[in-house]
Amino acid sequence: MVQIPHIVAIPYPAQGHVLPLMELSLWLVKEGCKITFVNSEFNHKRVIKALSENDDVRNKISLVSIPDGLGPEEDRTDLKKLTEAIAEVMPGKLEEVINMINESDENGVSCVIVDENMGWALGIAEKLNIRRVAFWPAAAATLVSLFSVSKLIDDGIIDSDGAILKKQGIRLSPNMPIMNPSDFVWACFPDPALTKIIIDLVADNNERVKSADWIICNSVKELEPGAFDMFPQVTPIGPLLATNRFGSSTGHFWPEDLNCLEWLDQQPHNSVIYVAFGSFTILDLTQFQELALGLESSKRRFLWVVRENLILDGNDGAYPKGFKDRVGTRGHIVKWAPQQKVLAHPSIACFLSHCGWNSTIESVSNGVPFLCWPYFADQLFNQSYICDVWKLGLGFDKNEFGVIGKEEIKNKMDKLFGDVTFKERALDLQAKVNSSVKGGSSNKMFGKFIDWIKTQSG
Ligand code: UDP
Repeated sequence: MVQIPHIVAIPYPAQGHVLPLMELSLWLVKEGCKITFVNSEFNHKRVIKALSENDDVRNKISLVSIPDGLGPEEDRTDLKKLTEAIAEVMPGKLEEVINMINESDENGVSCVIVDENMGWALGIAEKLNIRRVAFWPAAAATLVSLFSVSKLIDDGIIDSDGAILKKQGIRLSPNMPIMNPSDFVWACFPDPALTKIIIDLVADNNERVKSADWIICNSVKELEPGAFDMFPQVTPIGPLLATNRFGSSTGHFWPEDLNCLEWLDQQPHNSVIYVAFGSFTILDLTQFQELALGLESSKRRFLWVVRENLILDGNDGAYPKGFKDRVGTRGHIVKWAPQQKVLAHPSIACFLSHCGWNSTIESVSNGVPFLCWPYFADQLFNQSYICDVWKLGLGFDKNEFGVIGKEEIKNKMDKLFGDVTFKERALDLQAKVNSSVKGGSSNKMFGKFIDWIKTQSG
């Protein structure tokens, strides 16, 4: 009798990590696998609360949770605290979950799929002698930069605490863009102690990942060939989320506001700027107001995601006085959008984005050009692919006060709308990515991966 593979999926506890791993899990369910999806308790509650009523995912995937080591009210944006708490509490709890499954399911856990940021979970699987897959939910180029940490230290670019020693741009491989050391993921934190924690974590993950049977990456070879050539053991199987193939809302931390799709239906084709900063990025009040005034003075239509925690000191009273009345129905504001569906809508003309990787590939897969507004983590590096390598968008310049001003916002919007070549290149790249997913390299790699998942328990 053929055994049904039972897979335990463990995301890093952040929205941009949970969503693509959930999408992969839905794919694996379609291929006949059983999935136990292990969120942190904090995120599990949000996911359950945000689930739409008619989503039958709970019949398909077992949604379970383990504590992340922080109390319910503690600040999970404090990465130092969160990282330390995770390391202390999650490994033991994950082991308990796996042991429980092994006791109740006669075939036991056949494989774990672990976010690469959670290398310790690969260690648990190794200890329990379970096959393991490291899942990288971001660009291969970012993973390459993390894999290069010890070389960067040896070459004297950074020291062993992650501090930058040489400021000049470097190329990690001949076919990758020049990277500014201050754009590295670990370099964006103002607190050197946090940089050190991240560097140590990266070094640990780099070791752990060597024991993985697969390293799969939510990207496409065609998007970043240089990065994949440099580390051929990294297998591109993406983009997973790009077109929301299963239409499931599972994994979102906030309920999607579907009404905005009706508003989009009423707008002319190729007319709307979609503005969204992902799940984590925060704007200060001045910047938020400049953005509002920039959108207003552009006189263009816009759909803007203003998350409940988007503004540093809270969203109450943050809009410039009279803003909503002045823009009227040409602007539509939501707390959380069905982003993949929005980007696939014909009314969308461009995406003003923080350049998180999921947002990047969702836009690329839908042929939508960008206005880039990155803040930290991998976002600066993603911007350099969007603007300099693929040439699909424009970045913003800050003024002398470190703010992106309303005139700059309006000017860049006018420039992007006034140059059709951005859209043309976006459509070209969309075609390449989509053909990779439908029968091309990503599709073949994904097929091989699924075969492996199935045969190991056959
Ligand atoms: N997202 C969404 N609705 C929104 C804003 C974002 O569904 O209103 C989704 C988006 O489609 C993406 C994820 O949230 O899949 C954000 O991931 P990304 O890597 O872009 O950014 P992060 O949140 O990790 O900074």
